[in-house]
Amino acid sequence: VVLAVNGIETPKLWLLSNLDNTSDQVGRNLMDHLANEVVGLFGQPLYPFRGPQSALGIDTFRDGKFRGNNGAFRMTIGNDGWGRSEPVGLALDHALWDSDNKKIKKIGQPLQQAVQDRITHQLRFSYSTEQLPDPDNRVTLSDERDALDVPRPRITYRIDEYSKRALAYGHSVARRMWQHLQDTARATAVEPLQADLRFLGAGHLMGTMRMGTDKSTSVVDANGRSHDHPGVWVVGSSVFPTAGTANPTLTLAALTLRTADALANTL
Ligand SMILES: Cc1cc2nc3c(=O)[nH]c(=O)nc-3n(C[C@H](O)[C@H](O)[C@H](O)COP(=O)(O)OP(=O)(O)OC[C@H]3O[C@@H](n4cnc5c(N)ncnc54)[C@H](O)[C@@H]3O)c2cc1C
Repeated sequence: VVLAVNGIETPKLWLLSNLDNTSDQVGRNLMDHLANEVVGLFGQPLYPFRGPQSALGIDTFRDGKFRGNNGAFRMTIGNDGWGRSEPVGLALDHALWDSDNKKIKKIGQPLQQAVQDRITHQLRFSYSTEQLPDPDNRVTLSDERDALDVPRPRITYRIDEYSKRALAYGHSVARRMWQHLQDTARATAVEPLQADLRFLGAGHLMGTMRMGTDKSTSVVDANGRSHDHPGVWVVGSSVFPTAGTANPTLTLAALTLRTADALANTL
């Protein structure tokens, strides 16, 4: 049996099935990458929204001595303008679309001018941080049931101070980069720059079925095979013991290929 239903449903299925959980680690150490951004207008047109969303990044902050104090982060120089800024009301939609009255705010020449003046200059610096594995951040079974009468997952989740300090560090770097651009490249930082520690999740579910060599502290071995039930294998980022800063899918795909080879060798 191969479980491949991501970081919430995999432990939920496990717990629902009353499978052994010797390490008591099933469902624990749920992690995500916490993300935020600083946006503004560059001094000359950059023509965003053409090509991939993320074509450039600054990877210096993925590791370093500072990790003794705060988590690492990766910084993206976005190629999608303010397209991700919906929570602060700065998105492309909001610039052009009147959602209350359900009509386009500008049309014809004013629309062209708005695109030329603002949209082509939009730039964002995003940072997304490492989160530590915390056994209390976990998936358990809820008393509530879904429409199919299956118990819903209950998710207990909090953000640790180490990750919050990483957000603060990421924010200060992004702001300083904007300041530099304002001084040298006629860039305009657009208020409100978020001075607080608001953040969004990245949708990168990790942990909950952690991998390890020690049966007493992990759920699966290096091949994704259950310590308790050798006939059950787990693939996906739920097996990650830590989160790092990289988006998870390439790593989980590589691990899945390794699991597939190991599984095939047992047949
Ligand atoms: C908004 C967003 C942006 C993202 N951006 C990136 C990115 O830029 N880069 C990156 O690397 N990763 C990104 N990710 C993460 C990426 O989507 C996941 O790492 C990847 O999809 C995980 O693949 P998976 O097959 O393990 O799980 P999933 O893609 O979640 O697939 C699990 C499947 O199992 C099904 N399922 C669940 N429960 C059951 C059940 N009980 N029975 C049967 N089927 C079930 C689900 O319907 C789903 O189809 C992003 C995620 C989100 C949400």
